[in-house]
Amino acid sequence: MSFGNLNIIDPLCRALAKEGYTAPTPIQTLAIPHLLKGKDLMGIAQTGTGKTAAFVLPILQRISEQRRTSAPGVPRALIIAPTRELAAQIDESFATYGQFLRFRHTAIFGGVRQGPQVKMLSRGVDILVATPGRLLDLMNQGYVKLMGVEFFVLDEIDRMLDMGFIKDMRRIVAALPQKHQSLFFSATVTRETGEFAEKLLTNPVHIEATPQASTLDCIKQCVFFVDQDDKQPLLKKLIRDEDMLRVLIFSRTKRRADQIAQKLRQSGINADSIHGNKSQSQRTKAMHDFKSGRLRVLVATDIAARGIDVDDISHVINYDLPSEPECYVHRIGRTGRAGAEGKAYSFCTADERNLLRRIERLTRKSVVVMDHQYHSEKAKMATGAAAEPAKSHRSRAATRGSGRDSYPKSAPRKSYPAKRR
Ligand code: AMP
Repeated sequence: MSFGNLNIIDPLCRALAKEGYTAPTPIQTLAIPHLLKGKDLMGIAQTGTGKTAAFVLPILQRISEQRRTSAPGVPRALIIAPTRELAAQIDESFATYGQFLRFRHTAIFGGVRQGPQVKMLSRGVDILVATPGRLLDLMNQGYVKLMGVEFFVLDEIDRMLDMGFIKDMRRIVAALPQKHQSLFFSATVTRETGEFAEKLLTNPVHIEATPQASTLDCIKQCVFFVDQDDKQPLLKKLIRDEDMLRVLIFSRTKRRADQIAQKLRQSGINADSIHGNKSQSQRTKAMHDFKSGRLRVLVATDIAARGIDVDDISHVINYDLPSEPECYVHRIGRTGRAGAEGKAYSFCTADERNLLRRIERLTRKSVVVMDHQYHSEKAKMATGAAAEPAKSHRSRAATRGSGRDSYPKSAPRKSYPAKRR
């Protein structure tokens, strides 16, 4: 299968070839033909599946096929994303894939002055990528009008609902013209996302693309059973490994993300954090430094990390396990890209034992238990009853014997298959 087979026009194919994309990903193969025909779509897909190009390419193609000048503040395509980073990244994708086409595009999001964004809008943009808050602000001030929208994309609906954007989204949808094509994407399927999509989509095509098995197969997943107080010293030891070239660490809270980065800096490691309390310029700088390699370690919360698409992340470290197992898949998918072997290390305390069990059930993958000097038998043996009483049980893994060496040898001990339930 090639992009030409999908009837993608030559200027787009040239841009894709320049980017080194030889073949469409499964979600692109499935979605593009429907989108070119004007169908609504509900896509279940995470970052790493190629979902951005799956909607960017057909939108660019259809806009360029019916060229007309967009009036000031009246875009033809509107893409809503939950975070500034993701909005900026989608906007960049339009620029990359559309480099041989003529069109105007911009991204608008909060945390920066609105002046330059208003100026861009006043020149007329065909494609507008926006976060909900700033879009509504600029709509209220009369700088953006949605009556010309032909293509409407909601990316990461699940995250937007989690972040409490439901009312904002309803207001945005209410301002759209009757006739438009809607494309919704969500990483997970929940009752809320289903209900939301059902109300707003007309006869949608449903497409589901889990990260390619090979992506997860390329990731070596390891768990370190550890007590909460030992997480920081363990991290400090691990990070000395020279193979840890570019490390993304996930923390559950913003405050902890700052503390982790600060402690690493105190040990002479080039680290920074990224989360919702940081200013836009701080976030942009941290991302830029991480991408360019100037920053070896980036500590992030899940929401801030949503837009991170950085190649060559050698290690993802779950300093805290995520409360949703889907989120784990999303996190570790940042490493092991393009066939390179990535490593995902998870720290697991007794309280997090149950979260690990839920992750194993979802991924159905072996997790290697690592030996290290801070090993906590209590964490390893915990039933997780405190965290989730209703579902507590002892897994086969939890009842296995121990016996340990000390880090830095960090030898894999045992690997155990996740149970199917
Ligand atoms: P996404 O799921 O949209 O976040 O994309 C994940 C990564 O895959 C991005 O770095 C894209 O540039 C890349 N990508 C998208 N489509 C293709 C393709 N057909 N071949 C290779 N890489 C791709």
